[in-house]
Amino acid sequence: MERGKKEPVEVVCPKCRYTQIITLPIEDLPTCPECGTSMLISELLDEGKSY
Ligand SMILES: [Zn+2]
Repeated sequence: MERGKKEPVEVVCPKCRYTQIITLPIEDLPTCPECGTSMLISELLDEGKSY
């Protein structure tokens, strides 16, 4: 995967399933605005795509 390119990814809260789109690179994953849990990148849902 190429670095330095801005790439939108979806993050999801593992607790309440709140989702949000963020743009990489980022320093830290955001926390869920609903429950404060650290969110996880859910881009792996898209496994067919290759860069
Ligand atoms: Zn949450």
